[in-house]
Amino acid sequence: MKKTFIALLVLLLIITVWLLSASKSIQNTKIEKSDHVTVEKQTSPSTAVVVTKDLVPEKLYLKSPGISVFPVKIIQGEPFLISVDIGSGTSTIKNITFDGKKVGFLEYEKKVTAISGIDLSGKVGTFKVIANFTNGSSTEAKVVVSLRKKVEAPLGIPDSLGGNTKASQDKLVASLVTEKAALTSFPSATTAYWSEKFSWPVEKITVTDPYGYFRQTGAYSISHKGTDFEAKVGTDVFAMNEGVVQVSQDYSIYGKTIIIDHGLGLKTLYMHLSKSLVKVGDRVNKGQKIALSGATGYAEGPHLHISVWINNVSVDPMKFMDLFK
Ligand SMILES: [Zn+2]
Repeated sequence: MKKTFIALLVLLLIITVWLLSASKSIQNTKIEKSDHVTVEKQTSPSTAVVVTKDLVPEKLYLKSPGISVFPVKIIQGEPFLISVDIGSGTSTIKNITFDGKKVGFLEYEKKVTAISGIDLSGKVGTFKVIANFTNGSSTEAKVVVSLRKKVEAPLGIPDSLGGNTKASQDKLVASLVTEKAALTSFPSATTAYWSEKFSWPVEKITVTDPYGYFRQTGAYSISHKGTDFEAKVGTDVFAMNEGVVQVSQDYSIYGKTIIIDHGLGLKTLYMHLSKSLVKVGDRVNKGQKIALSGATGYAEGPHLHISVWINNVSVDPMKFMDLFK
């Protein structure tokens, strides 16, 4: 009887120990399960791959500070500067794109740099700038482009250009179209000629007519795609940076015109000049005297008209100069 009782007690003890260990193992299973569920919740479909992918950009970002855009917010007709710091990594840049299109880049102030811009009537919205590296990784930034408020002013056609008649208005617009087409037909060098900041084309900077407003003549609205600087006839005009003279010619609207190609689609245009001191193909230095200002072509008075083109898109020259402050 006593033996039976002891045997029962031992059996009970065994059962208790077994039950305890079983419940512990159930608990373990539960923890594992709940952990698993959490992992699945954090990531989606194929857990392992997604986790690895998510970690890659962060790691790369720490190794290389990445890409920056200046300014981040612009309006139609304005340029912006893209800087990519490739850090201490060994990877190099394969290409830089803005809104899916490749932009040329050079080394400026020890950074990989590209300049892009939006046309005066270009599309508005938020656009991506992406730098793709040769090792397959990439880094991106955003540019927000807003609508420019349209400003209109009447335009008087001087008597020397036919006065304010429909015929002279038609002629002015037709000439503008032809001359613009001629000026934009020249290709730009595939490498940059410049590596330093751009500088002003005249010694004394006084803006007499800003970029981006529209001049109304008859049924036409002509945009002013450049900046006019105060300059009496014969004022020294300087090259805004290193480059090659692409055009040195007379036009009926633009007057005596010089175009300097700075490479990678970037050009500066000097208009209504009285005298050109350079010829096509000349390599010019930054600050080199290239012309004397005037009032040739369609000009209501003496001044220097400057245009800045990025891949034939004319941007605000004053905002362009702000990029190099
Ligand atoms: Zn002008």
